[in-house]
Amino acid sequence: MPCIAEILIPLALDSAYSYAVPAGLDLSVGEVVQIPLGPRETVGVVWGVRQSPGGSNLRAVTGRIDVPALPDALRELVDWLARYTLAPKGSALAMALRLPDEAALTETVRVGVRISGKAPARPTAARTKVLAAAADGAMRGKSALAKEAGVSLSVVDGLIDDGALEAVALAPEPVALPPDPDHARVPLSEAQEAAVRELVALMNPGPEAPPPTDAIGDPLPADGQTPLTKVPPPGAEHKAPTILLEGVTGSGKTEVYFEAVADCVRRGHQALILMPEIALTAQFLDRFAERFGVRPATWHSGVGGKRRERVRAGVTAGEIAVVVGARSALFLPFADLGLIVVDEEHEAAYKQEDGVHYHARDMAVVRGRIENCPVVLASATPSIETRVNAERGRYRRIALPERFGGRRLPDIAAIDMRADKPERGRFIAQALVAAVRETVESGDQALLFLNRRGYAPLTLCRACGHRYQCRNCSTWLVEHRFRRALVCHQCGYAERRPDSCSECGTFDNLTPCGPGVERIAEEVAELFPDKRVIVLSSDFPGGAERLRAELQTVAEGGCDIVIGTQLVAKGHNFPHLTLVGVLDADIGLTSGDPRAAERTFQLLQQVTGRAGRGEKPGRALLQTYQPDHPVIAALLSGESERFYEEEIGAREAAGLPPFGRLAALIVSANEREVAEAHGQALARAAEPPDGVMVLGPAEAPLALIRGRYRFRLLVKTERAVDLQTYLRDWLARGPKIRGNVKVAIDVDPQSFL
Ligand code: ADP
Ligand code: ZN
Repeated sequence: MPCIAEILIPLALDSAYSYAVPAGLDLSVGEVVQIPLGPRETVGVVWGVRQSPGGSNLRAVTGRIDVPALPDALRELVDWLARYTLAPKGSALAMALRLPDEAALTETVRVGVRISGKAPARPTAARTKVLAAAADGAMRGKSALAKEAGVSLSVVDGLIDDGALEAVALAPEPVALPPDPDHARVPLSEAQEAAVRELVALMNPGPEAPPPTDAIGDPLPADGQTPLTKVPPPGAEHKAPTILLEGVTGSGKTEVYFEAVADCVRRGHQALILMPEIALTAQFLDRFAERFGVRPATWHSGVGGKRRERVRAGVTAGEIAVVVGARSALFLPFADLGLIVVDEEHEAAYKQEDGVHYHARDMAVVRGRIENCPVVLASATPSIETRVNAERGRYRRIALPERFGGRRLPDIAAIDMRADKPERGRFIAQALVAAVRETVESGDQALLFLNRRGYAPLTLCRACGHRYQCRNCSTWLVEHRFRRALVCHQCGYAERRPDSCSECGTFDNLTPCGPGVERIAEEVAELFPDKRVIVLSSDFPGGAERLRAELQTVAEGGCDIVIGTQLVAKGHNFPHLTLVGVLDADIGLTSGDPRAAERTFQLLQQVTGRAGRGEKPGRALLQTYQPDHPVIAALLSGESERFYEEEIGAREAAGLPPFGRLAALIVSANEREVAEAHGQALARAAEPPDGVMVLGPAEAPLALIRGRYRFRLLVKTERAVDLQTYLRDWLARGPKIRGNVKVAIDVDPQSFL
């Protein structure tokens, strides 16, 4: 009987297409094939194969492509992802597929040269130099030899052509050497030892281990909607747990999960460590190398063509034991995944906000279920979702309540800005100035934290009141003094900072309003002219290289005062830092976002946690206008538990995640009326059943981005509601998408802008 294959194509298509399988081609699920699509040829993945009498009218598969098949686990992840996020299944596949591009395939072979013993035909002076340099008979790279001899590469090439040097193709440098799990185990504290024992025991239950009794099996809010086929039925066999590793800043969570990684590697499995992109620092990789002898393979958007393909191939072949990567590493075709660690699991950076809207932490838990491998979520300030899952027994929890080495957490105090006002035109209160002075005078470091890039968030003409706004977005332009420009932080639009107002023409009357880090740097330079200051912000010239160097300088004590955005808040270890001053602790509290309190708490806990990680104790000062706000109060008293209790209570009372479900629909179009009309038509088709509420359309807080007008609808449901099915039915009933209208679906939205 003829065979029909269902082929999923990595484009924004919802389902697989049927193709005839030519006689003699024996296809299996997961294989990558070439197929005709419209007038061209493209690639796809076999999603299913069946025998069928019909199908003579179908176009035929062109042939198989000689690359490793997509593993079952990844196909299952793609299905899950598409079903949960409502993204087209082909878009989900695109994230897992990434075929080698042409450039990667035609990788230049590294060539080594050595002396052959044959005399050259024409011994010029330059040639003699090369042969002298190569006289020892050792193998060298071509350009290394040319450099050593002080001649151009063509001289070396000439000698190769001549036969005086022989060229040998070298194996490509490995992308990662095998980590040694027993390279340098640091002595752990008692608390850390206990945590490691518990962690390793949870990862590898012995034969006599009792079957799990807690209610594991609810990896995500979409519980019960999607059976994960490879997971054995309850009680049948060990199910790998998800474990929250909750430890205060400086407790040594990294040391603890490194032991879990070591255990995984010793057993011959692969481990994946996910990090929010921002934390992928050299410091972390060095720390890994200290523990395991070599740096791990890395995977993020900055890993380019050839290297990318080699990491992918190494992971597929099972040759790469450990990958440290950003969220996209979750879609690598691991041969034998034995552990996933999600570091700083609460980070908003794990949520992808364009294309397929997915949360990498949640998808890591799903991948763990599919592979039946343990997942460790590490954080000093876990997300509310993860805390609730731990409290309800869906996740296990291991706590490290104290800092390593008997170090204390920093004392946190407030500076009430209503009473202690900075001087006019200044932003640092007297009390903070005094604390910085005291700190740097005694040879320690101080950090001033302000989560605002640039010089001033708003520029205004004092004569006519004109405010500088982006021409593509509903945002104010941010002044960047180093660049002498007004810049939109949404779309990147920039214009030269004018000398006269573009509205009324008045000269020299433009006023910067409010501070960014550059403005704080100016103030610090006036206050402490002889101190060494480093400003750390992601948009400074010099890019990642320079940033790494500056972080290193700070860590080594090569500066007195650090001024930074959230870039410095996370993951870094600055042993000389004893004071953290937060310039605007209230900045995130007013956003109206359901996670505003949680986000602010996490960020401020992280940034104050930079202080006192070395020998000397640390302290933190928060400049605030609302010292009694529950978030600020919890930080001041150090009562994190109370914060979690109150916040979880408030979420439950309001039916907000994880006690209810949320999804956002963002309607955008080139004309405001078109976007609004489409949003209204969608709302009319909503027909929300019991337990479902549809709000909007309302103009988005960012009403215009890159020239597109935006309206938002918010769907709020009870937890028991099958949100995805409701959304699918609604969209199917809703208005047809016309013209340039786009509707983005964001399940579990993290951003409400
Ligand atoms: P966390 O990630 O929990 O904030 P880290 O893992 O970064 O903490 O550890 C904080 C600091 O304490 C680091 O400088 C680390 O090197 C040090 N540290 C933690 N545990 C140990 C240990 N067992 N031996 C030596 N140093 C340790
Ligand atoms: Zn803009």
